[in-house]
Amino acid sequence: MTTISSTLATPLAATAGGFSCAACAYRGERPPVVLRASEVMPFEMVECPACRLVQQSPRYTPAELARLYRRGNSVFEEADTHRWARAVQQYVIHLHGLERPGGPRLLEIGCATGHLGALAAARGWRYTGIDVSAEAVSRAAVRFGLDVRAGTLAQHAATLHPYDVIFLCDVVEHVLDPASLIAELRKVLTPGGTVCIDTPNWASRWRRFFGRRWLGLNRYHINLFDAGSLRMLLARQGFSMDRCGSYTHCRYEAWPARPEVRRWLDRLPGFAAWRVGALLDAFTNRRPWALLRRDPPTGPESAQRMVHVLAGQLNARQMAFQSGDSVFVTARRPG
Ligand SMILES: [Zn+2]
Repeated sequence: MTTISSTLATPLAATAGGFSCAACAYRGERPPVVLRASEVMPFEMVECPACRLVQQSPRYTPAELARLYRRGNSVFEEADTHRWARAVQQYVIHLHGLERPGGPRLLEIGCATGHLGALAAARGWRYTGIDVSAEAVSRAAVRFGLDVRAGTLAQHAATLHPYDVIFLCDVVEHVLDPASLIAELRKVLTPGGTVCIDTPNWASRWRRFFGRRWLGLNRYHINLFDAGSLRMLLARQGFSMDRCGSYTHCRYEAWPARPEVRRWLDRLPGFAAWRVGALLDAFTNRRPWALLRRDPPTGPESAQRMVHVLAGQLNARQMAFQSGDSVFVTARRPG
């Protein structure tokens, strides 16, 4: 999970010793802990009794959160081919079905180094990206010539035109107040416009199987949604649901590439580890996203070719299951 973006905005008013849900605004006694503090995630997580959002409790203060992001930033560690592969996967899942003539306007919150933006621009979108990392935004502008801005949505909202589509991937799990972020983005969405949100899935079968070793858990992820709590977050702001589904990151769809599986394989003797790894790899290489691992795109042109191939292979049924590592919802602002 790469960048945060969006807002470190006003936190929820904490009720003394109590609990406020970041998705549905439920307030009450602090619910039982569902995830104890660990080295990976040094705070407790509780589950909202009303909408089932799993969230950090007590919350970071805005100052603590800002300090956390000043200390570490993983945005620049990922290989370029992985970024293109991920951009193709995101494009096929979220944006391909929303293409239309006339250059629709797309805003990406959490644009990182601009790979999805470059692909979207090549497919005819009028694109704007926002990211809190000034260095990421600068790279996206220099390399791809994109309209990209450093900061938060709240900082730029006054100078943005209304958008037909707003896309957020790996954002809502990072922010103190996701409900305020949705209210903010609603203001820069055209009536009838679409918002696509993609975030780690608390209902993932990998999370259920590996528990606290699941790769979706880290000290940056303070809200963990499932399909129900994500829908609730949007419904509260008056959005009507279009699509909801789940999938797994193309890189981690290959079981031996998952850190949880790797830990287990590394305990086996050398040859056995290699043999089991090869069998698992062969098993998972039959799925459509495996194309992105076998022959990863290297630029906007090859990424576009992959979009064409993969959009023809995937169908709604393949993304309708609810237990992948990521959950997504597409919703519409009423006209
Ligand atoms: Zn709730």
